[in-house]
Amino acid sequence: MLKTGFLLGAGFSKYGGMPLSCDFVIQAQNILDNRLERSYIPSREPKNLQSLVRFKDFVSDEKGREINHIEEIIKLSDQYRLTKDWDNIDKEVRDAIYEILIAAPFIMYLKDKNELYKMFDIYLRFLLIVADSEAMIATLNYDPLLELLLHTAAMSITPNSQLFHKFAEIVSFNYGIGDFSYRPLWGSSSNIDRVDILYFKLHGATNWEGCDQHGLTEVCDPLKTRAIGRCRECNMPAKPFIIYPVEEKKLNSQLSALWDTAFGALMQVEQIVIIGCRFNETDKDIFKNVNELISNNKRLVIVDPQGRQIKERIAKLNENVVYIDNGNGEGAVFEDIFCDGKTVANENFQEITNLRLRKDVQYFRNEQPSMPFFEEPVAT
Ligand SMILES: [Zn+2]
Repeated sequence: MLKTGFLLGAGFSKYGGMPLSCDFVIQAQNILDNRLERSYIPSREPKNLQSLVRFKDFVSDEKGREINHIEEIIKLSDQYRLTKDWDNIDKEVRDAIYEILIAAPFIMYLKDKNELYKMFDIYLRFLLIVADSEAMIATLNYDPLLELLLHTAAMSITPNSQLFHKFAEIVSFNYGIGDFSYRPLWGSSSNIDRVDILYFKLHGATNWEGCDQHGLTEVCDPLKTRAIGRCRECNMPAKPFIIYPVEEKKLNSQLSALWDTAFGALMQVEQIVIIGCRFNETDKDIFKNVNELISNNKRLVIVDPQGRQIKERIAKLNENVVYIDNGNGEGAVFEDIFCDGKTVANENFQEITNLRLRKDVQYFRNEQPSMPFFEEPVAT
């Protein structure tokens, strides 16, 4: 039986440079303005990004107000996809989202390499904790952040990152849906040391493909932007298998089963650690489930700069709920916990959760990893 369940929200991925709902169009414009697409989209034709920006301008004009929220843009793209001028816009918008998520670490890399390496360190320390302890992950994010990280880890072959490299070789994610799990780049599944991390992506994932009728049919390489393929069952064009957090969250049967499995597993752990999830109105379904989980009398640890407020929001006077923040409602508490230094936040975390942070390892901080898939942009 697993001891710890991590439940991750948007704040977890935000630290890794993944855009929030209102940042997608801005990020698309940023990529186009700086012609960054030439460095990470194999085709180097930013058609989808251009379509996203054009469509956003069009619908903002139509509605007479600025529309930035990606969920609203997705919904509108479904409405306009059969019109003459916006043929295929639903697919283009979804592909643009995918490309933007893939680009996020690359944009960080161009902005400040050291920040990117520091970010890698933090997330990998988190993954080491999950791999070292009996833990599982359930996430509300559909971005490929952790997968990208493992890819990069496995591809980085600089001498000092041996442990890091080894780690990426032996760790794989088990998505808990169908027969799909994510295999590491190297190392075989027969490796006896292999660690399979249960990783429930409750809203689907950008690297999952499926069709309305047949659900999830493919788990793709999270690193590659690709032409979306066809459903293996019906040969209809496949689309990203994502539950965008639009108003009506219709879960198809596969995702419902995934939710049931994930919450069944969370019910059995001794403690749940929630990182970067604010339990806003849009997370009502989670909210309901979390209340059920608390009633199961287990410890709930909230890691968030606003941990105190969230604690009040989800469980008044429940002594099993504890929070870890930075004391001032601000700052990157996630970073403070998983950094290599000694901080109040990481000492609190270890004491409260009984999870041990590895202090003796550094991965990227003092070296420049090779990133074969990150090319510098070509000067014009
Ligand atoms: Zn199908």
